[in-house]
Amino acid sequence: MTPLWALHGAAPDLAGAPPLSIDAVMQDAVPATTKKRRSRVPRITLLVLVLGGLAFAFRQGLVPAALNPLPALDLGGANPWLVDWRLAAMKYNPDLCRRVLVAPHTDAQPIADSPLRDGCGWTNAVRMSQAGGVRAGFDKVTCEAATALALWLEHDLQDVAQAIMGQRVTSVQSYGTYSCRNIIGAKFWKSRRSEHATANALDIGAFTLADGRSISVRGQWRGDGVEARFLRAAHDSACRYFRVVLGPDYNAEHHDHFHLDRGIGWLCR
Ligand SMILES: [Zn+2]
Repeated sequence: MTPLWALHGAAPDLAGAPPLSIDAVMQDAVPATTKKRRSRVPRITLLVLVLGGLAFAFRQGLVPAALNPLPALDLGGANPWLVDWRLAAMKYNPDLCRRVLVAPHTDAQPIADSPLRDGCGWTNAVRMSQAGGVRAGFDKVTCEAATALALWLEHDLQDVAQAIMGQRVTSVQSYGTYSCRNIIGAKFWKSRRSEHATANALDIGAFTLADGRSISVRGQWRGDGVEARFLRAAHDSACRYFRVVLGPDYNAEHHDHFHLDRGIGWLCR
């Protein structure tokens, strides 16, 4: 093949150039961009670790209240931004809970802590009777989960009910909150405490509509009727506020209720 310089008539002047050593050839063989990239790797790794650590701290509610720049949630406001981190900020902050869980959006009273024993107990929990105008009786539930429930009921669930059933939901049927037990039905997590053991989870079995009709997970999840569509949309909309939302599609243990929790997992099924 003809060298490119030959076509342009300008041959390189090799005769006058000093002889190249092997080292010089080797050095030139490493492109400058690779050298630059290599030197940036430790800095980028450090940055990723720092950002990852910060994200973890916000996600787990470990950022001290005085240093947390995120504003308190407002139960009256739809579509809150960074809602997961703002919910997590309430985990260890009873004062913030008292400021957020207020009438008329919810009726929730703080209850005394029950220090962990054998992996069971709760801190910063409430007794809740309504949220978003929906009767929702949950005896012992963490403030974080109660706030997630209040936001979901007031904003997303009512929209889903209006759009699909043409009316409001007036109550949800509790299938339980606090229960000192391990996870049931999961193959690999049998020896792990359930989020129910720390009151950080709640189960819902049915919804009552304004006309008095009840729609149950056990009876109406299957099929393609309007009730099934409502239940599926309700299930999916809860995933915005709860980290783990499980229904009949997850496993047989959930054939008759939705499980909603604010634990460390992330699953919507
Ligand atoms: Zn559950």
